Amino acid sequence: MEIDRLKEWFVEERRDLPWRGNPSPYEVWVSEVMLQQTQVSVVIGYFERWMQKFPSISLLAEAPLTEVLKVWEGLGYYSRARHMHEAAQLLVREYGGELPASAQELAKVKGLGPYTRGAILSFAFHQRAAAVDGNVARVLARYFLLEEEIDRGPVQKKLRSLAEEILPDEEPWVAMEALIELGARVCTKQPRCSLCPLRSGCQGFRQGVAAQLPRKGQKIRYEALFRSVAVVLCEDALLLRKGKSGQVMADLYEFPYFEREAPLDASLQELLGRKPSFLRELAQVQHQFTRFRVTLYPTVWEVHEKIPIEGHEWLSWKEIEKLPFSSGHRRILTGIKR
Ligand code: SF4
Repeated sequence: MEIDRLKEWFVEERRDLPWRGNPSPYEVWVSEVMLQQTQVSVVIGYFERWMQKFPSISLLAEAPLTEVLKVWEGLGYYSRARHMHEAAQLLVREYGGELPASAQELAKVKGLGPYTRGAILSFAFHQRAAAVDGNVARVLARYFLLEEEIDRGPVQKKLRSLAEEILPDEEPWVAMEALIELGARVCTKQPRCSLCPLRSGCQGFRQGVAAQLPRKGQKIRYEALFRSVAVVLCEDALLLRKGKSGQVMADLYEFPYFEREAPLDASLQELLGRKPSFLRELAQVQHQFTRFRVTLYPTVWEVHEKIPIEGHEWLSWKEIEKLPFSSGHRRILTGIKR
């Protein structure tokens, strides 16, 4: 592979990002976990706020989970934040609050997949380690004309070995990051081969099949969900429930909701043990999590007594400000305030 040309291209074209330069292992970890499933432009603000709030692994470990989720709010896939929080506690207990510099030790840390481990070893510890994300997989599949489905486990392993093989002994971390950047900016879904420093050796380009690669297996099938959401007010408080551990929305706050086919007023009356007064409808909200596309139909109701309801809490507006919400319910909350 034309590694020197790739590195020259990278030095000229690289984007200045807050986790680049000479990042600490912790900064690499945080940025790489945030970048999974999320665009760079969105991650920048989250990364900066996170590092301000939790500037070290030990401060992250000490923070209450609610605070961690609050900073993460809106990024989705909340298990990433939960795992980081748990992992930070393990790192404090067993590694003096630092990330270890070996692949075997990193493999013991919860939530660190092969890509993130490779990225930490490469970008922070400057080791010759492969970090194959979707961008690198695309470049390699095209460059080496790999026709296999790249989301299969054995193919992922093969891609990691290929990446390790092509990394130079000198500054392998620069070549690794350059490959990621090339995949993000040039060897994109529609490849921009005329701008590519790897064009002369790229088999996908030479055979005119680059745009058809890489091959992927089954696409995710999204399931549509329709839910009625009840915003129940009582004086200065709202009725909320916190997602139980093990659920997708664990530790995030939501309003009571019911599947749309059930009559809302009857379900609500059963939950509250009395008939609430209907106040108004709010705008529908669409949101997506894991493999679900959800439409939420929020309505506002009122009761005159804060009766304790199992699994629910009556919380004031002031208390609510500090709590993490799932993104769909956060948008409903913003809608009520308008
Ligand atoms: Fe990708 Fe085209 Fe470059 Fe090959 S020449 S690596 S297909 S951008």
